[in-house]
Amino acid sequence: MKELSKIALAIEPSATMAIDTLFKQMKADGVDVIGFGAGEPDFNTPDDIKAVGKAAIDNNETRYTPSSGTVELRKAIAYRLKEDCGLDYTVKQISVSNGAKPCVYVSLRAIINPGDEVILPSPFWVSYSELIRMCGGVPVIIETREADDFKLTAQELADAITPKTKAMILNNPSNPTGMMYSRAELEELAKVVVEKDIYVVCDEIYYRLVYDGGEFYSFAAVSPEAKERTLLVNGVSKSYAMTGWRIGYVAANDQISTVIANYLSHCTGSPSSISQKAALEALTAPQDSVEFMRQAFQRRRDYMVEHMNKIDGVSCIMPHGAFYVMMNIEKLIGRKLFGQTIHSSDEFASLFLKYGKVAVVPGTSFNAPNFVRWSYATSLDNIKEGLRRLELFLQEKAV
Ligand code: PMP
Ligand code: GLU
Repeated sequence: MKELSKIALAIEPSATMAIDTLFKQMKADGVDVIGFGAGEPDFNTPDDIKAVGKAAIDNNETRYTPSSGTVELRKAIAYRLKEDCGLDYTVKQISVSNGAKPCVYVSLRAIINPGDEVILPSPFWVSYSELIRMCGGVPVIIETREADDFKLTAQELADAITPKTKAMILNNPSNPTGMMYSRAELEELAKVVVEKDIYVVCDEIYYRLVYDGGEFYSFAAVSPEAKERTLLVNGVSKSYAMTGWRIGYVAANDQISTVIANYLSHCTGSPSSISQKAALEALTAPQDSVEFMRQAFQRRRDYMVEHMNKIDGVSCIMPHGAFYVMMNIEKLIGRKLFGQTIHSSDEFASLFLKYGKVAVVPGTSFNAPNFVRWSYATSLDNIKEGLRRLELFLQEKAV
């Protein structure tokens, strides 16, 4: 048989999806396991949104829509971008697809030629490096440090840019670190972006999940020049607990959005007509449920961070957005647990699952081998029990 695609063969499976699948399988097998792996709200989709989805089926709104999404949904997205981020986008500049993930992909598709470099600050969400490579691009990873709140500086960005650099990916607030850039920091980054004339795929899917009164600022809002170079990715999955509905969007300048629309018209066709109706409700109805969930996430974050830092051998810094905590396990590297030496977060995570019955994501998949990601998008009871199990695990007591 002939060889398969070299590009496809080089793609790693998603570690976050793999951990979640393993966790769900263990649970289905009756194992008393607790999952902190998947970055997915544990809340149900709010009732008003579900009702609109059901009505869409009953009203026979079950046909193809325009491939970049219905005009009414794109108008609602434009309204939200204006309301929440102060951004002006026309309907034509917005494309809707099946979740934010394909929107990141199609954004990269629109700008990357084979061999183009794409700057990727790490720790990064697992899919970015693979999506860049799926487009024939070359990820250029810049490591950020916990001591700098895992943030990229303008100088580091400038130093990484070469004549081959086409774009950078900026995920703000960040999965997996939970860090959020201030307006001043974004302005500094934007100066470099504009001066060096690169694109920014800006994934702002966690923009509503921001804590302690922190103010989210969209990269595209920095200046018209920055906006012109931004491909703004967002969606309803995280803010509205709608991960399974699969609706995300990308907003970009006229030329880029035309290219994206053309691409989507062939490769995905239209997103689900039912989900689009539900997303319309999410974006236009009163936003109380977003605030309710945000407050719950903040309480869980506070508990997790406070108690994790009381446990010997591990630590974490306070995240300001999203729903992840990066636990530092540097002190455990080289130590033996349950007869096995911990070389990196890979061993830690598999031993913790085996003996502690807790699923977390090893930082190796985010290019952060001495860290482990916990999602706090789960109940306070689970968080308490998970941390109790962590303490037992570190004392080599199996659950
Ligand atoms: N971007 C980031 C940073 C994410 O964490 C996720 C979650 N999977 C996505 C994009 C994809 O979102 P969606 O489920 O809408 O595809
Ligand atoms: N974004 C989530 C996570 O990081 C969901 C899984 C995925 O799509 O990668 O866990």
